[in-house]
Amino acid sequence: MRADLLPISISYPAQRTADAEKTNRTKFSISSAREVKETGERGVQQWYTASLTKNAGETNATKPTRSSPVPEHAGRVCRPGSNLRHQCRYIRRGGIAAAGVAATVIRPRTCESANSMDAKRSGRLGTAGMVASFGLLLWMEHRRSLRNPVESKERRVARNLGVAGVSAVLLHFAERPVSVPLAKLVERRRLGLLQRLSLPAWLETLWATLMLDYTMYLWHVLEHRVPVLWRFHAVHHADLDLDASTALRFHFGELAASIPWRAAQIVVIGVTPRTLAIYQRLLMLSVLFHHSNVRISTRTERWLSRIIMTPRLHGIHHSVEHNEVNSNWSSGLTIWDTIHQTLKPGASIDNVTIGLADYRDPDELTLPKVLKMPFERSTAKRVTQRPGKGNS
Ligand SMILES: [Zn+2]
Repeated sequence: MRADLLPISISYPAQRTADAEKTNRTKFSISSAREVKETGERGVQQWYTASLTKNAGETNATKPTRSSPVPEHAGRVCRPGSNLRHQCRYIRRGGIAAAGVAATVIRPRTCESANSMDAKRSGRLGTAGMVASFGLLLWMEHRRSLRNPVESKERRVARNLGVAGVSAVLLHFAERPVSVPLAKLVERRRLGLLQRLSLPAWLETLWATLMLDYTMYLWHVLEHRVPVLWRFHAVHHADLDLDASTALRFHFGELAASIPWRAAQIVVIGVTPRTLAIYQRLLMLSVLFHHSNVRISTRTERWLSRIIMTPRLHGIHHSVEHNEVNSNWSSGLTIWDTIHQTLKPGASIDNVTIGLADYRDPDELTLPKVLKMPFERSTAKRVTQRPGKGNS
């Protein structure tokens, strides 16, 4: 039996057959034993019909009696993401008006497959959305650029996409196999702070997103404070210009180092797969936007920067000046910089030089050199702890 299933014994003494004796435990994939309670005859009959339809030849469950306990979810909102929720949807789609009946004997594998299909479909849509957002920002950068470029745009974008390609492989084979199963485990076992509070779904998602955003701020600070992390993060900061492609320029070593942090975020906060997916998309949109070289009117940007990180604000974080790079760390909401008094809105964009002071030659920033950069001894001496000096 899969460890993630909650077994519930249901027996029907009056009609138990020899075969049924062998399978007197019917397994329900439900999110909580609290969702199990009595239903009336109609619900039981519909449950039984659905069971036989879905599992013809696969189960020996016998017809329950009026008093048989049947899991149900009357009055509860089906939320996507859990096995129970998908079972609910299947019942509705199948035309069985089983309002209140969530417990079917649909094999857990069926629900897992459905979850997987939904996740894949959602993932493809999310990827398409990100590609479209990236393209839109590149077009807007062309039409309304905020800073004058130092390097050729084509050369930089190609290099940054090269760094992103290597990192994408690591994300696919190392990060996702950790974060997604962990989030599923959190949902099944109700692990983490928010899972213990039993909040409404929307409120749980909101709190989780806020807490993920705050802990992302802390991670970014650590990347600047801890020398070994800074060596990898410096690859991102070494870009001589700042645009939407810089948002994808994270060294694979930096992403690998962030996996334990992401795992801790999921388990401690109690992040479900759905919330994780929502947060990751919001984060990606935010990161693309505030790295972009899109000129927004000063008035609009001043208003926006009270809520979210903006291109001008984040440009200051990419400055060669140490007192500027140690500011504006937020990845989403600027409230975290405000609380920690690290928000630096004042610098004029004309006075900001993007990049690292010790890496001004584009020939030192080719794709192979950028990928090797964190591992070079000379690099370590040049970048280690530089941002930590003169901290605000
Ligand atoms: Zn940074």
